[in-house]
Amino acid sequence: MDYEVVIGLEIHVELDTESKMFCGCSTKFFSEEPNIFTCPVCLGMPGSLPVPNEKAIEYTVKIGLALNSKIASFTKFDRKNYFYPDMPKDYQISQYDLPICEGGSMDVEVNGFTRKISITRVHLEEDTGKLIHIGESGRIGGADYSLVDFNRAGVPLVEIVTEPDIRTPDEAKAFAQKLKNIIEHLGVSDCDMEKGSFRCDANISLRPKGAKEHGTKSEVKNMNSFRAIQKALIYEIERQRELLETGERVVQETRHWDAANNITMSLRSKEEAHDYRYFPEPDLVSMELSREWIEDLKKTLPELPDARKKRFMEIYKLSVYDVEFLTSSKAMGDYFEECTKSYSDAKKISNLMMGELSMHLNAANLKIEESAVTPKHLVQLLKLIDDGQISGKMAKDVFKEVFETGKLPKIIVEEKGLFQISDEGEIVRIVDMVLEENQKAVEEYKSGKGRTLGFLVGQVMKLTKGSANPQLVNKILKKKLS
Ligand code: ADP
Ligand code: MG
Ligand code: ZN
Repeated sequence: MDYEVVIGLEIHVELDTESKMFCGCSTKFFSEEPNIFTCPVCLGMPGSLPVPNEKAIEYTVKIGLALNSKIASFTKFDRKNYFYPDMPKDYQISQYDLPICEGGSMDVEVNGFTRKISITRVHLEEDTGKLIHIGESGRIGGADYSLVDFNRAGVPLVEIVTEPDIRTPDEAKAFAQKLKNIIEHLGVSDCDMEKGSFRCDANISLRPKGAKEHGTKSEVKNMNSFRAIQKALIYEIERQRELLETGERVVQETRHWDAANNITMSLRSKEEAHDYRYFPEPDLVSMELSREWIEDLKKTLPELPDARKKRFMEIYKLSVYDVEFLTSSKAMGDYFEECTKSYSDAKKISNLMMGELSMHLNAANLKIEESAVTPKHLVQLLKLIDDGQISGKMAKDVFKEVFETGKLPKIIVEEKGLFQISDEGEIVRIVDMVLEENQKAVEEYKSGKGRTLGFLVGQVMKLTKGSANPQLVNKILKKKLS
């Protein structure tokens, strides 16, 4: 049977505000000691009262505007009750029936096609604390005991929910990537997937092609890279397909992506499904968002990825392929534009970024913002090539060295005594020597064996230890032999 895949995403984004959602505690605690950034409010002490963070509301509206959502005139917070020790209050302040943003959509480019993915809602809540399970497995199952860290409890968290419009793992990955890109451009979160400030849960089900009803879904969590999202969904499609084909049923449950073993594992089943008993948060008043305020916010929105892409195509006259790559993240686009400030050939910049730079970043598993090769380094290298000081081949070696040491290309060229002989007289002298010593090859070439030229070029390069400008060597050899 042919199945159709149905996917909907729930993405949590920690906002990059100075303070937490309902108290004055700092949010800048990553890798600090546990339970330092806490106060009676985010520890849920009796009698403490929450005060909403205006900046967080502003950031949520900005995300909604960027996703073409409808921004609520009237909105409120609700209590989501649950019993789990990662929240000291035993409830999380969230939004239930009146979220800040509803509806909207995002266009996603996948394999040359554009797909419109509808947004269900964008709401604001507070993040939970973190549990650390002590024991051999490091997981809750079989742990000897668990420790709790409330530093993260109360950090502003935006949840973006999509309609079940996504049809392939590629689309899910592309959606998550573009959303991250948009949020980075808005400057409202650092969107660091490894640190957990951008977390994507995927709901997935299969149904017979043409069916109207949705199949039973599973929800997959714990994917901390885009590749993991894609891999987990591919795995889940196969798992569900096998169940359906053998006449079994898919159980509605939450599953955990196990990146080490490339599988999803059942975390909790429907039997344990939560009843959150939402009710309006009595310690907070509801809010009216004025239309003027929203209009003003609209005016402050920065250039977003689609607009940037269009501008790059127009200004730099690059191909769609290049531009897609250069605008795939904010850091990538910023890097490129920084290079263009001191170097005018955009195509050469783009080639080097897509080639050597990407290759080294991937191999070292680094992000472009962590690269020791900064725009300054990259431009200096391009200029050294343009000036004929080093060959394209030498540039590769220099690039590797810059990447590893962070030294400027000029310094490396000097230290290694790298230089390219581009002086015609010098090359003519060496070519003459080579021709003199290789009479046989010269005869062969003249009798029509064109490929002997390569051998002769090789001899010149050997004599100069690779430093002769290959184009010049070629030109001069051909002239001499004709
Ligand atoms: P839940 O109550 O389990 O959280 P929701 O209806 O709130 O489910 O939907 C959560 C997410 O799951 C949304 O992104 C939605 O698009 C997606 N979703 C809902 N039903 C399905 C389904 N049958 N298959 C795949 N995704 C689904
Ligand atoms: Mg849900
Ligand atoms: Zn606090």
